[in-house]
Amino acid sequence: MSISSKIELLAKELPTYVKLVAVSKFHPVEAILEAYQAGQRIFGESRVQELIGKQKVLPSDIEWHFIGPLQSNKVKDIVPFIHTIHSIDSLRLLEEVNKHAAKQNRIIRILLEIHIAMEENKHGFMPFEVKDLLNKENIHSFNNIQICGLMGMATFTDDTTQILKEFHLLSSLFKNIKSSSVFKDIDYFNELSMGMTDDYKLAIQEGSTMVRIGSYIFGNR
Ligand SMILES: *Cc1c(COP(=O)(O)O)cnc(C)c1O
Repeated sequence: MSISSKIELLAKELPTYVKLVAVSKFHPVEAILEAYQAGQRIFGESRVQELIGKQKVLPSDIEWHFIGPLQSNKVKDIVPFIHTIHSIDSLRLLEEVNKHAAKQNRIIRILLEIHIAMEENKHGFMPFEVKDLLNKENIHSFNNIQICGLMGMATFTDDTTQILKEFHLLSSLFKNIKSSSVFKDIDYFNELSMGMTDDYKLAIQEGSTMVRIGSYIFGNR
């Protein structure tokens, strides 16, 4: 099936409140353009160099999301154009994004990545750390970022119960933070980025508002 038919199928299948981030990492600009022509505007990339190369040659109304591990020294390279960063996993990184965004006079949407999987190698804050972070005074004085929600990746497994359990944990943390005093008057804290090709249906079941789908749309990498 073509890339454009996949985009059209997903557009029909996903609930209207769920945004589709088409994860185009390792796929060429031609593939992105095919999805773009089918109406897709949000694309996710996980490597800074690759993203910059693509952003230069692709239409300017694409909303670029950064979803991979991000080094502090690379932040300045994406800040001029990035729409949302899903993979903020330290206070240091948050400060760095705010600093460069201020220089560029931009406000960047960020999601805090939470470690919910059993694998050691997945990035992110532990659930208890994120609450400590949000209780720090100074992060609420960062004027050039908006903390828009949480992102997480479930364990890579066929065990549906395990995946649901992890998504449920993230979803509960999200609701808990959203209703906490820190965020109660902030209407932009409303994104829960969870679900990829193999588990997006389970993620939606648990309250995802953003799915990051790569191989289903573009094929294997
Ligand atoms: C690659 C990647 C995806 C997309 O994965 P698929 O299984 O190809 O859909 C989603 N999220 C992150 C963080 C990724 O790195």
